Amino acid sequence: MATKFIFFTGGVVSSVGKGVTAAATGRLLKERGFKVAVQKLDPYINVDPGTMSPYQHGEVYVLDDGAETDLDLGHYERFIDIRLNRSCNTTTGQVYQEVINKERRGDFLGGTIQVIPHITNEIKRRINQVAKSTEAEFVLVEVGGTVGDIECLPYLEAIRQLRSEMGRENTMCIHVTWLPHIGATNEMKTKPTQHSVSELRSIGISPDMIIARSDLPFEDNLREKIALFCDVDKRAVVPMVTSKVLYEVPLLLEKKGVGDYILQRLGLTARQEPDWHEWAELVERTEKDKPEVTVALVGKYVELHDAYMSVRESLKHAALNLNVELNIHWIHSAELEKGHNWDLVKESHGILVPGGFGSRGIEGKIQAARFARTNNVPYFGLCLGMQLMVVEFARFVLEDDRVNSTEFDQNSPHPVIDLMPDQVNIADMGGTMRLGLYACHLQPGTIAAAAYKTDVIEERHRHRFEFKNAYRPVLQEHGMRFSGLSPDGSLVEIAELSDHPFMVGTQFHPEFLSRPNRPHPLFLAFVQAACEKAGVPYLKDGKTVNSK
Ligand code: GLN
Repeated sequence: MATKFIFFTGGVVSSVGKGVTAAATGRLLKERGFKVAVQKLDPYINVDPGTMSPYQHGEVYVLDDGAETDLDLGHYERFIDIRLNRSCNTTTGQVYQEVINKERRGDFLGGTIQVIPHITNEIKRRINQVAKSTEAEFVLVEVGGTVGDIECLPYLEAIRQLRSEMGRENTMCIHVTWLPHIGATNEMKTKPTQHSVSELRSIGISPDMIIARSDLPFEDNLREKIALFCDVDKRAVVPMVTSKVLYEVPLLLEKKGVGDYILQRLGLTARQEPDWHEWAELVERTEKDKPEVTVALVGKYVELHDAYMSVRESLKHAALNLNVELNIHWIHSAELEKGHNWDLVKESHGILVPGGFGSRGIEGKIQAARFARTNNVPYFGLCLGMQLMVVEFARFVLEDDRVNSTEFDQNSPHPVIDLMPDQVNIADMGGTMRLGLYACHLQPGTIAAAAYKTDVIEERHRHRFEFKNAYRPVLQEHGMRFSGLSPDGSLVEIAELSDHPFMVGTQFHPEFLSRPNRPHPLFLAFVQAACEKAGVPYLKDGKTVNSK
């Protein structure tokens, strides 16, 4: 079958869950037996989000091939349970960089380089590249931003051209909008949706489906009104009320007939009956009352929870699997340094220190690791969280508070974490870290090996610094185990303490490979250890374990 392309555009306002909608739609198609890939087109001029502040952009999501991408890619991978590649996130920066490089090489033979056709051709090439590199039958393409943004125009023009080149039977456009609620008259308003659709049509794109997001449910007459004014089938106007449970979205779209409508519109029939068993059970479990456990997430960007999107989701996946309710205390590590918020740390049943860069709040994280070690509180360190767990332990073993990572103190007499040799002469900041999937061998008899139940794993990385091998013997002597090593044994990928219920740090980012129905083994083991600490019952292998 010819690849089908579904374009998602946004109208009215941003942040209405376009990414989740695209991800959930992908799941509807996968459930019907089709191979799906999703691409995000980001209108900003940065080459990728790797150099952007998490405050601006939220989490940087890393793929197998080391691409540093938008956090929506995380939604796509988690909802559809797929692994995407570099072609699945394109930015305006990449598009222009490519075209300008070609111009400098002389590829355009003296021509004048213009937005149409040169920029739009490069955008079209990149959209087609997803189909080629993933061999997907359905390519879903989400355009970042909102219709009417100047930055979006080249993308929309490229999509308009693709629609006429590929034919209506191979493409579809889904417009995701927002219906505001006017409190004074208690009404939902469709006018902004109408305006955004007319804006889209003025560019030459008529939507085939409108997903109308709102905080409150609305009457059928509003659907009719949207259908009439925006020239779409009434069946293709889909009301989507804000759901408390993220993973309910595919079920809601299924109920509204979105999957069937798409196939019918593109002249296809489902290859299999969708099976929503597992999802329905997951959502049901989310909504039930469950025993509570609390984890302290000690980070630097905690005001913006999106900065730790995958970490939060991975914790949720593990908690759901164990049938417990997981609360997160979001704690700023710089506050801990001032002596604040320790009450929150003390009432938590586990401490998680996620990845990060730069020196602000580092000592607070080290203090949190010390608290976890000396009070037998489960601790899980991700990347920077692992490096600081090593720093804390080495300060204790070597009885020297000057132990540090050279990221924070280049003159430390004990640089237990140091720049990787191949990082020393790197001047460019973008895309130059140790990135993407690397194999790791687990050492038998360790917490890590027990959690993974296997001996070789592959995980995604994003860092410049690493454990300095000269310190292996002395730390090992005092109870640190290097439970995960690179295949040649030269890099420490996982460290853990033997005299502790769960003190584990990973140089990689396990949070990128967790799935709602398949929690990551280390997150599962960590949340289980937190349940033990809390003394609450949890579910394991179908049986309730009463940890008392
Ligand atoms: N800043 C550390 C490094 O570059 C940790 C990176 C991270 O946590 N992702 O090695």
